[in-house]
Amino acid sequence: MVIQTDALIVGAGPSGLFQVFELGLLGIKADILDSLPAPGGQCTELYPDKPIYDIPAILICTGQELIDDLMKQAEPFNPRFHLGEEVTEVVRQDGLFVVKTSNDKEFHAKTVFVAGGVGSFQPRRFRLEGIDALEGVSVHYRVKEPSIFAGQKIVICGGGDSALDWALAFADTAAELTVVHRRDEYRAAPASVAALKELEAAGKARIFENAKATAYAAEGTQLKSVEITVKGEDPVVLEADHLMAFFGLAPKLGPIADWGLGINKKAIDVDTEKFESNIPGIFAIGDINNYPGKKKLILSGFHEAALAAFAAKAIIEPGKKVNLQYTTTSPIMHKRLGVSD
Ligand code: FAD
Repeated sequence: MVIQTDALIVGAGPSGLFQVFELGLLGIKADILDSLPAPGGQCTELYPDKPIYDIPAILICTGQELIDDLMKQAEPFNPRFHLGEEVTEVVRQDGLFVVKTSNDKEFHAKTVFVAGGVGSFQPRRFRLEGIDALEGVSVHYRVKEPSIFAGQKIVICGGGDSALDWALAFADTAAELTVVHRRDEYRAAPASVAALKELEAAGKARIFENAKATAYAAEGTQLKSVEITVKGEDPVVLEADHLMAFFGLAPKLGPIADWGLGINKKAIDVDTEKFESNIPGIFAIGDINNYPGKKKLILSGFHEAALAAFAAKAIIEPGKKVNLQYTTTSPIMHKRLGVSD
């Protein structure tokens, strides 16, 4: 699928969301994508309930509240969201940027805004040799199709909400269910922990605490067994059809490193007039960029988004004079914001 767009924003954290707004004020409609299934970046992924005190004129808000309000602020401009999609490739072709995603979408964009923060959030994986070859077949870090696990021997690793929610979800349909957790305290909701312990007492699940999956055996991409080692004990081997891990997400710069951008210590070098990278038409804002004096704060990304939007306008509508207008008094901005009579 090919999508034409004036502005493509890579990353729906606070910087990317505010970029939608700043572009919208200048009459530019944006497409925005994120590898995560929901917008918010670090704010919602790492500290949704923690208070933030240094957003100008907002005395206090949580990470989630900030993102909810940025989403509302961007609403009048109807951005097209593409969530759960990682941008894998960006190349310049015939004056446009051809941007490819993990879901086989192709964007033809006049300008690109990299708002990728500390990188794309990826599930933490097993560090067992050769196990990557089984991924998506019998080793899983997310559940796409729950029905394939019915009647199967499943080993789930992790002690957070995702691990326990899926363990509880599969309890009635799995042939065998085993939960392996590296500690004996859980991050998951106490009610889920209690429900899992009840399953164990009823003989519907096995739980290994202070334990890890330490080895596996497979035939091709099909898992056959998993070795589990409880701290201080001899390993046990369980027959298994599927092994799942929910160890949380960790950011990785990932494909952004391969787009030919000037990168310095995992950040994209930009100027401080336009926040443009070494490739004209590709801007970088927020935590992902680097310039003298850069501070990785949410308000830095907001300022950068405003200046990058003006620079992009000159590319998208060359030759057109762009005047600075105030949202307080500009009729054209009121119209774009949907607040005019
Ligand atoms: P991010 O929030 O990192 O968002 C980037 C998004 O880009 C991510 O969602 C990622 O999945 C996506 N992405 C990356 N690569 C790709 C790709 N190839 N394809 C698709 N999507 C991609 N700052 C403050 O100003 N005040 C605070 O009080 C504060 N408290 C903090 C507390 C904690 C615990 C942490 C960890 C950070 C805190 N920060 C605070 C920092 C603040 O969260 C960051 O500065 C801010 O999130 C940066 O926003 P961003 O949009 O640039 O990047």
